[in-house]
Amino acid sequence: MSSLLIINYFSRTKNIIMKNYFLLALALLIFTAKAQDYPQNMAKPLDIPLLLSGTFGELRGNHFHSGLDIKTKGIEGLKVFSAEKGYVSRIKISHGGYGKALYITHPNGYTTVYGHLKKFSPRIEKYIKAKQYKKESYTIQVYPKASELVISKKELIAFSGNTGGSFGAHLHYEIRKTAGAIPHNPMLFGIDIKDTQKPVVKNVYIYPISDDAQINQSDDVVQVNLKQKSLGSFTSDPIIAFGKIGVGVNTYDKQDGSYNWNGVYNIKVRVNGLQTYEHQLEKFSFGETHYINLLLDYERYIKFKEYNQRLFITPNNKLSIYKNSINNGFIDINEEKDYLIEIIISDFKGNESIIKLPIIGKDVALIKEVQHEKVTLNYFDKNNVNYITGDNFTATFRKNTFYENFYFDFQENDSIISLHNNTVPVRKSFTINFDVSKYTTAQRKHMYIAQANKKGNYYFRATKKKGDIFSAKSKALGNFKLDKDTIKPTVKPFNFAQGKWLSSYKQLIVKIKDNKSGIKYYRATINGKWILMEYESKKGALTYNFSDNKTISGKQNLKIIVLDNAANKVIYNTYFYRKESNK
Ligand SMILES: [Zn+2]
Repeated sequence: MSSLLIINYFSRTKNIIMKNYFLLALALLIFTAKAQDYPQNMAKPLDIPLLLSGTFGELRGNHFHSGLDIKTKGIEGLKVFSAEKGYVSRIKISHGGYGKALYITHPNGYTTVYGHLKKFSPRIEKYIKAKQYKKESYTIQVYPKASELVISKKELIAFSGNTGGSFGAHLHYEIRKTAGAIPHNPMLFGIDIKDTQKPVVKNVYIYPISDDAQINQSDDVVQVNLKQKSLGSFTSDPIIAFGKIGVGVNTYDKQDGSYNWNGVYNIKVRVNGLQTYEHQLEKFSFGETHYINLLLDYERYIKFKEYNQRLFITPNNKLSIYKNSINNGFIDINEEKDYLIEIIISDFKGNESIIKLPIIGKDVALIKEVQHEKVTLNYFDKNNVNYITGDNFTATFRKNTFYENFYFDFQENDSIISLHNNTVPVRKSFTINFDVSKYTTAQRKHMYIAQANKKGNYYFRATKKKGDIFSAKSKALGNFKLDKDTIKPTVKPFNFAQGKWLSSYKQLIVKIKDNKSGIKYYRATINGKWILMEYESKKGALTYNFSDNKTISGKQNLKIIVLDNAANKVIYNTYFYRKESNK
């Protein structure tokens, strides 16, 4: 990492010639200064050697990953410890997102976040359960006062799990600057993960930017035919180009001891030895994270799920991760001149992979010319409010819904409304309204607006029903339709049978399922009293812990009400027996 910083420093001053010993001395100086920027003595959140399945700033859909995903040996229930003394400032339990999440605010100015937890430590568990019983809800968010749940350094605070939007047991660990809730790369705080491997380079692309730009006799984006010279060193045959161009790279990092493909830390571009572009994943704000859609080649991302990073900064891109760039990373290729473009990719430990692209400046006849279809209808200026009206629908797009201006295309075929297509990123939600006047009240009851996902399957969107208009919000373009679901959810006991004695049972597990519109609401009672059933949507399981409440000997009547998103309701009644027990 230290040598990286040196290169930044010098390219900024454009001093290219330097001696090695001087470099080393300065590296030490700058490294020390850097370490002082962040507390280095915070404890590890897990008591095992740390391996990562996700790094800070890793590229995800619509956002950068804001923490580390720490592997938990593939199991749940590992002890999680507080990184520093402080107090529990927030507890959030949700079906998606971080599932069961704990926030601890520390006197050092930072807040640590622990996500996808299985459960909290007994003290915190007792605190939050009391709140859940009071609210009669599994999902909850509370902000305890600084005096309520004081935490010491390395205190056991929770057990790792797989709750929420997690698909495999792990701990999501985040360090935020408390002021402004700015997530920082936890590796800057002295977390040491062994990594001796150079970043993996998957693909490199060259983009024509100006109207006259061309690459290898094409005015379309060109994938470079890369050759690996040695580990972490790549080159290509000379590329003939002209005009203003940009480069893009698809790259990952692997760390020692885990197979996962994680994100890299820093990417730079040099042209003839001069740095023209750099970004580094040290920190970012939640307000800017969506601009990842402008870093990525969004169309390739949607079409091929490929995270190709464009190493140039388009005008509307407000990411703060950029530094030391010239001409926003765009490269002007002139006639009869030779260029060497170098892309330098580093992981947090400073392992580097370098791609060298020799360029010959030449304006030649194009073999392949892109046919740009110009539609004159529906030009969307991103700075204006835009509307689309069809036979049975309208769609409204607020100012700044989009990152760029473009020609909006739409179709209305039978019942399906195609709003352009999902290769154009959306910054703010827009509203689609359907006219439902031709449907009866009875028909409307089980109808809702559905949107197609990438696989083409239609899924429920929260639908507002007002008069003859159904409306829904979305943050993705694509296909919409009115859908209906008339089938009730199902409820099935999972670990018990009706009428049995369950005195030795610790938990009661019931599976609930809705095949189409999905589960909206559930409520469970025993002998008329609300019980906390934790809902794990991935498994469709509702779990009750008998230790939550006192049991009075005898017959226990369990009642569960489940509603789907299309107003189909099921009331499930069953019973079992249990001997008296205290909590
Ligand atoms: Zn995570």
